[in-house]
Amino acid sequence: MRTSTGLGLGLGLSGALLTAALPVAAPVSSPCRALFGITDRLPDRSCVALTFDDGPHPRGTPLVLDILARAGIRATFFVVGEQVRRRPALVSEMVAQGHEIGLHSYSHTALVRLTPRALEREMDMSASVIGEAAGLSVRLFRPPRGIFTYSGLRQVRDRGWTPVLWAADGRDWRQRATPDGICERVARRLLGGNVILLHDSDFYGAHESWRNTAAALEPLLERIEQRGLRAAAMTVESLRGAR
Ligand SMILES: [Zn+2]
Repeated sequence: MRTSTGLGLGLGLSGALLTAALPVAAPVSSPCRALFGITDRLPDRSCVALTFDDGPHPRGTPLVLDILARAGIRATFFVVGEQVRRRPALVSEMVAQGHEIGLHSYSHTALVRLTPRALEREMDMSASVIGEAAGLSVRLFRPPRGIFTYSGLRQVRDRGWTPVLWAADGRDWRQRATPDGICERVARRLLGGNVILLHDSDFYGAHESWRNTAAALEPLLERIEQRGLRAAAMTVESLRGAR
């Protein structure tokens, strides 16, 4: 997922949030995100949360699942509805292995490009396809490019979903990303509670970017352990502080 740049939101803009398409977050500081109830950290500072966006992918997802299984670590996969429709069995596999599923839109279209009606349709289709694939109800939502809109945030809340972002970005979707670079970039933000953003898919990033992500994953898990932290999934329960 390509993350946005230069769309920060100052506290003074809160009065302008009535504008339906105003981008509400992404590169906003954590305190500001918290103001809108958008979470990027777990309250448990003894762990960090591993999250993977943009799948399921026929090659990237199984590779990441294997690494996580070998390490005995659970993560959260923010899946895209149109990919779930094509590969529902991979979502079932994620669930069978104990991972958490979050929603990352239906078509990976930035929320700012959707009318409220189109957005509602996307949300409905996504919830439906995830329900069909794995019998799950959506609980967590992360928008494409990490940009919320006011109407998007309201729809997420109205559906009882929790809006989330991240605090450490591997920027692994880029063409010039390398395993070492991804690992080092995340390692600089390995603070207790931080949510880490990675991608198990190249559908919306550079060709075969998931290879770099997978190659970075084991070294990153070692770095997490060296810091005395535990890698965990981000779930509604872990966000509330419950184990
Ligand atoms: Zn994405």
